[in-house]
Amino acid sequence: MCKKQINALTLPQLAERLKEMGQPAFRAKQIFHWLHQKQVSEFSRMTDQPKTLLAKLEEEYDIVRLTIRRRQQSKDGTVKYLFGLPDGNCIETVVMRYTYGNTVCVSTQVGCRMGCRFCASTQAGLVRSLTAGEIAAEVYAAQADIGQRISHIVLMGIGEPLDNFDNVMDFLTIISSPDGINIGMRNISLSTCGLVPMIDKLAQRKLQLTLSISLHAPNDEMRSRMMPVNNAYPVAQLIDACRRYQKTTGRRISFEYSMVKGVNDSPETARQLAGLIKGMGAHVNLIPINPVDGSPYSATDAANVRRFQQLLEQLGVNATVRRRLGSDISAACGQLRREAREEAQG
Ligand code: SAH
Repeated sequence: MCKKQINALTLPQLAERLKEMGQPAFRAKQIFHWLHQKQVSEFSRMTDQPKTLLAKLEEEYDIVRLTIRRRQQSKDGTVKYLFGLPDGNCIETVVMRYTYGNTVCVSTQVGCRMGCRFCASTQAGLVRSLTAGEIAAEVYAAQADIGQRISHIVLMGIGEPLDNFDNVMDFLTIISSPDGINIGMRNISLSTCGLVPMIDKLAQRKLQLTLSISLHAPNDEMRSRMMPVNNAYPVAQLIDACRRYQKTTGRRISFEYSMVKGVNDSPETARQLAGLIKGMGAHVNLIPINPVDGSPYSATDAANVRRFQQLLEQLGVNATVRRRLGSDISAACGQLRREAREEAQG
């Protein structure tokens, strides 16, 4: 049996456990500092703690450690990791260097059950969700490897964050804690394929993070073909949820739009998209699709992406073309994990 993961606990949860063990209240903060500021991976390194307590903790808990299974560095500085989890599963994490700081893109699940047709992460389904401690460990391991501070986080790696709601919320609490590495919510983006009830649940938390919606198409016919989740939560319901989210949180939403040649990139589609989200003050990120093996999709060429963007701008919608970092190292979601799996299968 695996032990529980002590670094998956938020500070209040840790305080509660320690209280149950008869420990004074100040210990929780001290141990949290060891785990999330100094990021130790051994209980024995917590030198200001009583040995008897450390022994007891060690009996009950593990500190999650990730191993670097593979590491690829792109010419543009992007680094992509295949991390091994304690149970032998693998996930991907990417660090991107921007002028404003280092951004880490974390996975929230091993695999994914959302089934988007263009995405490598979902091709073999969902294995399991990650714990809050495992997601935090991605950030710490990446930071340790590059030897520079991580200032921004995007939840855009493998998995659907809102399909792992409670653990992702605990992760956000841990990572934004002033007693941890204190990454402000305004420096965090969470991306979802559009699980409407979960968007409403997230709105209730009133977090200052940026919610990013993977829209990719402005009508049901087109979107359902690309993303099965649209059958459960069609476009109109999704956009309503986005409007409610903006109203409740006061935060603007951003839309991801992966451009697929001949599928969702016509001028008519741009007009439909503009009509759909007009007046929301939302931002659209256009990304030429990164083709994955076994998918019929290919990328819209740069000139057409630019034209699509200009049309959106003319129609009053703010749109930017996302720079493609790391395209020489298969940095699209799930590609490295898939390559490793295929190699292992021979
Ligand atoms: N499950 C979440 C977050 C992970 S995917 C979501 O769906 O938003 C992060 C983003 O990458 C999403 O916008 C997703 O649609 C997009 N994406 C996945 N595979 C892609 C590919 N091959 N090319 C371009 N974008 C892709």
